[in-house]
Amino acid sequence: MGEMGTVKQRAAPTQDVEALLGRLRSIVGPQAVLTDPEALEPHLTEWRGLYRGAATALVEPGTTAEAANVVAACAAARVAMVPQGGNTGLVGGAIAQARAGHPEIILGARRLNRIRDVDAANYTMTVEAGCVLADLQAAAEEANRLFPLSLGAEGTCQIGGNISTNAGGINVLRYGSARDLVLGLEVVLPDGRVYDALRALRKDNTGYDLKQLFIGAEGTLGFVTAAVCKLYPRPGSVATAMLAVADPAAAIELHSRARDELGGALAAFELIGRLPLQLVLEHVPGTREPLDGAHDWYVLLELAPAGADAQDQLEHFLARRHAAGEIGDAMLAHSGAQRDALWRLRHSISEAEKHGGAGIKHDVSVPVSRVAEFIDAASAAALAEVPGARVVAFGHLGDGNIHFNLQQPPGMDRAAFLDRWEAVSRVVHTTAHEFSGSFSAEHGVGAMKRDELARLRGGVEYELMRTLKQTLDPHGLMNPGKLFPAAD
Ligand code: FAD
Ligand code: ZN
Repeated sequence: MGEMGTVKQRAAPTQDVEALLGRLRSIVGPQAVLTDPEALEPHLTEWRGLYRGAATALVEPGTTAEAANVVAACAAARVAMVPQGGNTGLVGGAIAQARAGHPEIILGARRLNRIRDVDAANYTMTVEAGCVLADLQAAAEEANRLFPLSLGAEGTCQIGGNISTNAGGINVLRYGSARDLVLGLEVVLPDGRVYDALRALRKDNTGYDLKQLFIGAEGTLGFVTAAVCKLYPRPGSVATAMLAVADPAAAIELHSRARDELGGALAAFELIGRLPLQLVLEHVPGTREPLDGAHDWYVLLELAPAGADAQDQLEHFLARRHAAGEIGDAMLAHSGAQRDALWRLRHSISEAEKHGGAGIKHDVSVPVSRVAEFIDAASAAALAEVPGARVVAFGHLGDGNIHFNLQQPPGMDRAAFLDRWEAVSRVVHTTAHEFSGSFSAEHGVGAMKRDELARLRGGVEYELMRTLKQTLDPHGLMNPGKLFPAAD
């Protein structure tokens, strides 16, 4: 690699790390600087247990000013920082990797948890980065508004983490991903300066849209401290159904019909293979078969129109599709409890996979029209690498986003299977790439897919990313080793 190959080497710490910790304690208060190994432990491991890190301390600023002073102090000492929200990320992005001679401080956003303003008439709320997603959904509802970002980790993940990973989830089809829900942003830059663009404007054509750079940047360009988020009217009613389809091609066809006939009211369209459903039924207590008998493929579909007629609309839609022979058995939820039970099947898949043996996971996207072909091609390519593995495919079909996972073959050694991760991922990612897709649809690159970024987004695109990183973070202090290799 040429000049752009490595981020400029970080200088060795210019002052004793202990002196820095003293300085940090004076900024945020001693109780907000954690160095005790036991207290640090939950911040050093990831949800799936794939990453185990090390850090000098966790520092939790309580205000933007404190955050700016903390970052400035670390920058002056040339000590690296790792932003962390709810630590529900799945690609190692929030895990510090301190090594001898390379201390790392975790910047925790938990105490930045105020909702600064809810402006119902402007359909916006201004919130701090550490607010838990579920709390923001509740705050919006209290103002008779909807904050539509929704994902399995919503009880723990933070809006700062959602923004930094450009999180997707189940409502992207209708409302877009985190990027589409952010109007303004406040970020502490790697040198401690504050980029303040907390504007609540839907129209603002004033040069480069800089806030976009920080959305999905996975903490490599700065520490997000606050955001202005878009709100929406609450739907008048909601209807949810689970139905059987013959195969992914039939699901794609059904998706087009649903968009044509149900229009903007279509809120979610999820595809679920039999194996992921089977894992949920086996491993998650209190779940049961949604339909009579077992089917190869399922669609979970949700309608949320402005009016009160969701149930009627969906019932008629399903009746038409059934009469045309396009779908098999279907179950329309008739109560909140039934709806929750259907969504629980979907949201429990990740949990169930953990109990069902080791898994090699992918989060890819292709054009919606090509999802079926992709699943066939990726299955063939992956099974050639690990014969006997079981394909666990499910995801947000309406967004062309498939979680294409492989489950350890019965009888194969767990470690031997996991040793195949890189080889399997390579062929799956290459297949997605050949279908004009992405190797990272919604979970991000982090540490896990860093080499894939260089491999599959090389050339000018990668060079521009490196230029940006170099410009905003010339000493490589903000989340080193994520997106790009760390300097030695
Ligand atoms: P963390 O895990 O703490 O951090 C994630 C990344 O963002 C790291 O690189 C970190 O450095 C950076 N970061 C965090 N906070 C800040 C900040 N304040 N400033 C700058 N950088 C920051 N993701 C989806 O997109 N869709 C899903 O449907 C989905 N479902 C999930 C289901 C489960 C059960 C789990 C465990 C995870 C799921 N995820 C999903 C992944 C994860 O929840 C999201 O990526 C989430 O947005 C991460 O938020 P967090 O606060 O936990 O961030
Ligand atoms: Zn997902």
